[in-house]
Amino acid sequence: MEKTNISATVFRYQPGQDTKHRWQTFKLAVDPEYTILDVLNEIHWHHDGTLAYRRSCRSSICGSCAMKVNGRNVLACETPIHQFGSKLKIEPLPGFEIIKDLVVDLEDFFEKLKRIKPYLIVDQPLPDHEFRQSPAELEQIGESTLCILCAACTSSCPSLWANADYLGPAALLKAYRFVFDSRDDGTDDRLDIINDRNGIWRCHTIFNCMEACPKKIKITEYLSRLKVKVVEKSI
Ligand code: SF4
Repeated sequence: MEKTNISATVFRYQPGQDTKHRWQTFKLAVDPEYTILDVLNEIHWHHDGTLAYRRSCRSSICGSCAMKVNGRNVLACETPIHQFGSKLKIEPLPGFEIIKDLVVDLEDFFEKLKRIKPYLIVDQPLPDHEFRQSPAELEQIGESTLCILCAACTSSCPSLWANADYLGPAALLKAYRFVFDSRDDGTDDRLDIINDRNGIWRCHTIFNCMEACPKKIKITEYLSRLKVKVVEKSI
């Protein structure tokens, strides 16, 4: 296949060596069907082995390779370069500390996730076999189960940029996933946790999270339902 010429300008930062970040441009001749991840692999394998970036499954499942490309949060492995033309600007997810180059520190992201107890809490005796739900009950959870914890939504949220203590859309979506699960008994506990100035009320329905989500989850819609649930509990 005929190659296409592109330029990829990549964010670089080496802690302990760089006092601030810098940009490095690579001129490459690549397959026109390449994804952003293919471009990064090309750079890493053939031009500069020191480039750091996360990747694992290459199948939009692990959520490791979320980053910002030409101003948009995307999953590198599923995003073809032809969406952007011949000039790429590749940056780490905004709003997080940089560990190195495109690798950000997600410690705080997962800490906030843990805070909402992201697992089924069951008080009743467990059934011997499957813990069944009816199709209607499953419908309540909807596509919130599709989240791959890539952090693209949380990283794109202006409320989080303004206040780092905000739980953020990914943790709140996970709270929704369990609050609306017919088998879960932890609802009151979770609603108390998110009914906080840094919880659900910090969501100002800006919709950035929905635009950023590679799984096209209607996050803002789910968070609105969660707000109603919190209000219902308090009255
Ligand atoms: S809701 Fe979407 S953008 Fe947010 S972490 Fe989950 S998959 Fe990623």
